[in-house]
Amino acid sequence: MQKPQQTMFRRFLAYYRPQMHLFAADTVAALAIAAIDLSFPVILRSLANGLFTQGSTAILQALPLIGLGLIALYTLRFICRYFVSAWGHIMGARMESRMREDLFDQYERMCFGYFDQHNSGDMMSRVVNDLFDICEAAHHVPEWVITCGIEIVGAIVILMTISAPLALAMLVVTVVFVVIMVRQNFSMRATFADNRRKIAEVNSQLQDSLSGMRVVKSFANEETERAKFRHSNDRYLDSKVAQYFAMGTYQGTCAVLTGSLFTVVVIFGGWLIAQGRMSAIDLGTFALYISLFSTPIETLVNSTETYQKAIAGFERVDEVLRTAPDVQDHPDAGELVVTRGGIEYRDVCFSYPDERADDGVEPRPVIDHLSLSIAPGETLALVGPSGGGKSTTCSLLPRFYDVVSGSIQIDGQDVRTVTQKSLRQAIGLVQQDVYLFDGTLRENIAYGRPGATDEEVREAARRANIAEFIEGLPEGYDTVVGERGSRLSGGQKQRVAIARVFLKDPKILILDEVTSALDNESEEAVQRALAELARDRTTIIIAHRLSTIKNADDIATVERGRVVERGSHEELLARNGTYARYYRMQFEG
Ligand code: ATP
Repeated sequence: MQKPQQTMFRRFLAYYRPQMHLFAADTVAALAIAAIDLSFPVILRSLANGLFTQGSTAILQALPLIGLGLIALYTLRFICRYFVSAWGHIMGARMESRMREDLFDQYERMCFGYFDQHNSGDMMSRVVNDLFDICEAAHHVPEWVITCGIEIVGAIVILMTISAPLALAMLVVTVVFVVIMVRQNFSMRATFADNRRKIAEVNSQLQDSLSGMRVVKSFANEETERAKFRHSNDRYLDSKVAQYFAMGTYQGTCAVLTGSLFTVVVIFGGWLIAQGRMSAIDLGTFALYISLFSTPIETLVNSTETYQKAIAGFERVDEVLRTAPDVQDHPDAGELVVTRGGIEYRDVCFSYPDERADDGVEPRPVIDHLSLSIAPGETLALVGPSGGGKSTTCSLLPRFYDVVSGSIQIDGQDVRTVTQKSLRQAIGLVQQDVYLFDGTLRENIAYGRPGATDEEVREAARRANIAEFIEGLPEGYDTVVGERGSRLSGGQKQRVAIARVFLKDPKILILDEVTSALDNESEEAVQRALAELARDRTTIIIAHRLSTIKNADDIATVERGRVVERGSHEELLARNGTYARYYRMQFEG
C-alpha cells in the first residue's frame, strides 16, 4: 500500500503533466546556465596556466577572440536566465492556478454536510493563502535540484583533478553540514504547517466578524470582536516568530558552512603548498570554486525549505481534494422525469452526519420512520414544534442530505437513482433566509435560469409582485442590490427570490418559513406571489404562522421526526391534537 505522503506527492507531480513542454525547456535552459557557470573557473585556470604564460604578443592577439567567446557565452546565459525566470515562473503560476480551480470545483461538488462542518474563512484560506508558495516551489525546486546537482558534482570532479586531498577534506565538512541543515529544515516544516493553520484561523475570525458586523454594531460589541481578532492574530504572530527562529538557526548554519570551507581551503591548502603538493594558482582556483560549491549546497538545502512551505499548503488543499462528497450521483443515475409531480417519503430515517460520530452512543434520529405522500399538484403544509424536523424533511427531497434508511420517490423514481442536477432542476426552493448575490436585480432574478431574456426576467418579476417596485427605481433592473441584498427590504428580497423560482419553473416547490420574518403588509404581497407560484405545482410549505397555510390542501404535523397527524384544517381542529393546540395558541391567545 502507498503511504499517504507518497500519493500526495504523486498528485502534486500530476500538475506538471500539462506543462511538460515548458518544464523540459526550462530544464534545458537551467542545465545550460549550470554548464556555463561551471566552465568559467576552468577557462580562467587553463588561460592562467597556458596562454597567459606565453608572453604579451600572444596574449594580445588572443584577447579579442577570448572576448568574443565570453560575450557569446554570457549572451547565451542571459537568454537562458530570462527563459528560466519568465517562463519557469509562468509554468508555476499555471500549476497554482489549476490547483485553485480544482479546489474551487471540489467545493462546488461538496454537499450541505461538508459546509455544516467547515468554516468559510478556513475554506477561503485554503483557496487563496495555501497555494501562494506553489508557484515558487513548482518552478524552482526541480530547477535547483538539477542545476545545483550538476554544479556540485561538476565542482567535486574538477576539484578532485586539481587536488584530491583538499577536495576530500571539503567534501567531509560539507556532508556533516548538509546532514545538520536537512534536519533543521525538517523541523521548519512543522512551523510552516502551523503557520497555515494560524492564518486560516485569522481568516475564519475575520470572516465571522465582518459577516456579522450588523449584529456586532447592534450589540455595541466591537471591543469583544477586537479581542477575538487580536487573539487569533497574536497566535499567528507567535507561529511566525517560531518560524523565523527556526529560519535564523538554519541560515546561520549555512553561513558557518561557507566559513568552514574557506578555513579548510586556506589552512589545509596552505599546508599542501608548504609540502610542495599544490601550487598557489591551484589554491586560488579552489577558492573560486568554494562559492561555486557552497552556493548550490545552500540553494539545494534552501529548496527543501521552499518545498516544505509549498507542501504544507498543498497538504491542506489535497485534504479537500481527497474528500469524497457525501452525496454523489450513482454511476447509472438517469435524468429525473417529472410527469405529474407526486412525492412519496417511505419509512425515512435520518440523523445529521456530525451526530453519527462513532462514540458508541446511538444518535437521536432527526427523522424517525417518517412516511408521507403528497399527491401531484397538492399543497401540503408542514407544521409542528421548533426542531421537530420539518426543514430536515424538506432538505432530504433535493438530496441536500441522503436518507439513512427508507426512500424518497418522485413520480415513482427514487431520488438516489437520478442525477442531482436533474433532481434539483425539478425543485424550487424559497427560504426565509434569502441569499442575493452582489450584482444587479436583473442578474439576481436571472439566476433562476441563466440565459433568460430581459422580457422573461420582467415577466417573472411581475408574477412575483416585485416588477412595480423595480421599475420605480432610478436604475430599474440594473440596480445593484449590495452584498446579500443589503439594499433591499426583507419582503423585497423574498419576492426577488420568488421571481427566480418563477423563471426556473420547477414542478415541485418547497417554501420554508418564507414569510415568518415579514410584517403583515409585506406578508400580504409575498403571500399573493406565493399563491401564484404554487399554482399547478406540488408544494411543501413550512410555516409557523398558521395564517400562511390557509391555501394548503392538507396539513401534516411533524413532531420528533414523525408525522403525528394529518388532515384538513377542520379535521385537525376536530381531532384536538398538536395542530389544534397550535391554532388556539395563535388565534385565541
Ligand atoms: P424550525 O421550525 O425551528 O425551523 P424544524 O422543525 O424545521 O425547526 P429542523 O431544522 O429540521 O427542525 O431541525 C431538526 C433537528 O435537527 C434540530 O434538533 C436541529 O438542531 C437539528 N439540525 C438541523 N440542522 C442541522 C445541521 N445542519 N446539522 C446538525 N443538526 C441539525
